Amino acid sequence: MNNTKIGWIGLGNMGIPMAGQLIKAAYPVTVYNRNKEKETSLKNIGADIASSPAELIEKTDVVFIMVSDDKAIDEIFRGERGLLKAQASKKIIINMSTVSPGISKEMAKICKQSGNEYLDAPVSGSVKQAETGQLVIMVGGDKQAFDKAKPILEKLGKMALLVGHNGAGNSTKLAINSLLAYYAQGLAETVLFANAQGVKTEDLLNLINNAAIGNTFTKIKGDAITQDNFNAAFALKHIVKDLKLAKNEGLSSPLAQTVLQTFEDAESRYGEEDIIAIIKALKNN
Ligand code: NAP
Repeated sequence: MNNTKIGWIGLGNMGIPMAGQLIKAAYPVTVYNRNKEKETSLKNIGADIASSPAELIEKTDVVFIMVSDDKAIDEIFRGERGLLKAQASKKIIINMSTVSPGISKEMAKICKQSGNEYLDAPVSGSVKQAETGQLVIMVGGDKQAFDKAKPILEKLGKMALLVGHNGAGNSTKLAINSLLAYYAQGLAETVLFANAQGVKTEDLLNLINNAAIGNTFTKIKGDAITQDNFNAAFALKHIVKDLKLAKNEGLSSPLAQTVLQTFEDAESRYGEEDIIAIIKALKNN
């Protein structure tokens, strides 16, 4: 049994398998989710439940957050029973959500004033990597806090790299997710073009995945396309959020403008489906 008491806030597609990894690694884990039904699967494998973020931070040493967006972070910190309502000091708060660098800088400052540490530590990889502890983690914050958190982060990911001060993890993640959007739209357009030329999707993907241009993304999302399975591993609405955040940080390159437009146009119909549902939106154009 590891001694560090872990708190986990946010049990969505990513939070459930990530918190599950820490339970498997024998950490004592307390979880909180706004929708209480999502706590059940972790309770069944040994997690304690907290009724609010404030209660959770009081009971634990290191608090992880994995929620949707800036608004969710604001509510978790400033809500009625939010983290800031607790009498807590000497805690490390690790925000793994993909959010703006600005909110991380703001929350890091507030945490420091009350004697706590804040790290922004977003992840690259999706549900499959979360289930196997193979995420790639980019961290912004103080080196001392990072060094303390690193052994736990290494249970969640195959690497955890400190890239700069608070906010730098978020900036790095926005850069990486821009590439993710280019890949997704690129793969979808390539399949549709080949199909229009009479090439079967399976044959095309078989060739791509055996060629230098193939990668984990083309394999996983290629399978999703051939199996017609668009259940969200990474919801399309989240890439729209990320591309908007990147735009707010100044990204305005030709590809970035194009993918933002394409994914925004698709969001009302396909927002709850997986990012690769962009192929359905492009096909229906
Ligand atoms: P998700 O399945 O949509 O889950 C979102 C989580 O955020 C849920 O626990 C939800 O609680 C919580 N939440 C949303 N708004 C809230 C609020 N106002 N107050 C409290 N909790 C709130 O999202 P996900 O796929 O796990 O992604 C989580 C984060 O990781 C996002 O920032 C995403 O961009 C990023 N990310 C995702 C992936 C991926 O492949 N899925 C990969 C890398 C990074 P409820 O259950 O109560 O709604």
